[in-house]
Amino acid sequence: EHIANQIAAGEVVERPASVVKELVENAIDAGSTRIEVAVEEGGLQSIRVKDNGSGIEPEDCETAFYRHATSKIGNGRDLFQITSLGFRGEALPSIAAVAKVSLTTASSDDGRGRRLEIEGGKLTASEDTAHGRGTEMTVRELFYNTPARLKYMKSIQTELGHISDAMYRMALAHPGISFTLQHNGNQLLHTLGNGDLLQVIAAVYGTSAAKAMLPVHAEDPDYRISGYVSRPDWTRSNRNAITTIVGGRYIRSNGLNAAIMRAYHTLLPINRYPLLVLKLDMHPSLVDVNVHPAKLEVRFSKEPELYQLVEQVIRKALLGENL
Ligand code: ADP
Ligand code: MG
Repeated sequence: EHIANQIAAGEVVERPASVVKELVENAIDAGSTRIEVAVEEGGLQSIRVKDNGSGIEPEDCETAFYRHATSKIGNGRDLFQITSLGFRGEALPSIAAVAKVSLTTASSDDGRGRRLEIEGGKLTASEDTAHGRGTEMTVRELFYNTPARLKYMKSIQTELGHISDAMYRMALAHPGISFTLQHNGNQLLHTLGNGDLLQVIAAVYGTSAAKAMLPVHAEDPDYRISGYVSRPDWTRSNRNAITTIVGGRYIRSNGLNAAIMRAYHTLLPINRYPLLVLKLDMHPSLVDVNVHPAKLEVRFSKEPELYQLVEQVIRKALLGENL
């Protein structure tokens, strides 16, 4: 069981940013409206995620760290119907196998909570404690017992870059949740959680970027598209500012990216790129979320139709027309 967890950890926990992503997704799934993330030394020393969500029942705390114990999947077909971000019950056991984890949680407002400590997959403490409703998870010394993996970690700046990137994408996907990110005590991100996507764009990319955005909106019987796209006269040298969100999940799709770039065709100078946040909503039967959640890949069942709609709605926004 312990070895299985370490092997699984290799898939789920690639680097500190994967831990941040898994813990924050759990906080989102728990219905949190405020999620505070604080990391030290690029997350290699510690990662703390604190939320005000549902909390975990005292009697469920230990099982949350057993592999697949909490999997929300009943059978293979359910993978097409995923609505929560977590769905394999693999993240917590995997993280706990390769780090020193402490969990403090309470599922009611009466202040009665539970605290657990797990080191390298072994439960080392479990006790009642006072805690407000919500969960605080701290992951220290990631990969301390898997030195080969630790050796693959890049510089603190590189690991922090991956963490910020993951946080930006999740904040953009959830403007109704307030996110903060601190690194070694410095605040790097603060979103208000008031549902205003433009505020999140300002928090992530700066106010001048937010001012350069045009709203987009389109609907057909299968898809609904909304979000913001940058004016063609405001560009970036970095192509990494296209965020596509499907069902609350940040995804990567070469087809979508190509459709987006077609919309900007001839409007951008060479080697300049736009900034976009596009939310795509569709019936779950029209999208296949890849079985491996870390890969962020999806397959759409009506690709040409979707790509055409995306290109069209952006093009119209850029040309100042109304759809
Ligand atoms: P999954 O998210 O795939 O179910 P995880 O290993 O990430 O699996 O989490 C295990 C379980 O622990 C979750 O299903 C959830 O019930 C509980 N849990 C984890 N984090 C939180 C949290 N922040 N708030 C409430 N419940 C949580
Ligand atoms: Mg999870």
